[in-house]
Amino acid sequence: MEFEDRYRKVQRTKYDCLLFDLDDTLYPLSSGIAVECLKNIGDYMVEKLGIEESRIAELCNLLYKNYGTTMAGLRAVGYKFDHDDYHGFVHGRLPYEKIKPDPVLRHILLSLPIRKVIFTNGDKIHAAKVLKRLGLEDCFEGIICFETLNPPSSSSESETDGRIFDIVGHLSRPNEGVELPKTPILCKPYVEAMDQALKIANIDPQRTIFFDDSVRNVQAGKQIGLYTVLVGTSHRAKGADYALESIHNIREALPELWEEAEKSEDVLYSGKVAIETPVTA
Ligand SMILES: [Mg+2]
Repeated sequence: MEFEDRYRKVQRTKYDCLLFDLDDTLYPLSSGIAVECLKNIGDYMVEKLGIEESRIAELCNLLYKNYGTTMAGLRAVGYKFDHDDYHGFVHGRLPYEKIKPDPVLRHILLSLPIRKVIFTNGDKIHAAKVLKRLGLEDCFEGIICFETLNPPSSSSESETDGRIFDIVGHLSRPNEGVELPKTPILCKPYVEAMDQALKIANIDPQRTIFFDDSVRNVQAGKQIGLYTVLVGTSHRAKGADYALESIHNIREALPELWEEAEKSEDVLYSGKVAIETPVTA
């Protein structure tokens, strides 16, 4: 038993991949992008889906809470729309100029000769734009994004009868025996989606550190065996192995990453592995 514990500890200190969320993780929440994004989602629901404006705030909140993203929730309750159209509307009009170049983070990332991969629920155009604004477009081996887990063919496969499930009513008066409908969208924090993402990128969760600003994503990450770092707060929530106020604090919080990299640089830097959706601006 004692031997097993010691063995596990030795294994635990060895990482060969850093997996990063994008929004509000690689740049701070204070940029204001998240607020603008939420506003665009509300506008999409009013303008494109014909939902009453007075219902948007509550509906958004419930869908986000129950399905991981508002988009996944909208699809689950029965709305049909083109995924690219949604992303173009919600992300396409974001004030990207609010995201500033981050040479400090760039230096930190480039000083670590181990695999670095992005895992975002956002679309690939958004991810490329954000990374370009941050000046980090060449710092990652690849991006796992919306399209990686939800290829175009999957957007039209689930036919519905046109009826919209009343999630607000359902949650305020839960009927016994009626379950929330499932979403056809694969995204964090669904364990199934996260498992698939890791498989696509050939990532071993036991040897990977996962950075995300969402507590529930971090908890899901923990569930599938990742070492987890909650970003944007110094308060370590349940499921987080570590908490970092800013992504800039990686080096202070995890100095062993650099120590290990120095010790076994040759072994760790073993080349690139292809990911379906590569980083292309
Ligand atoms: Mg995030």
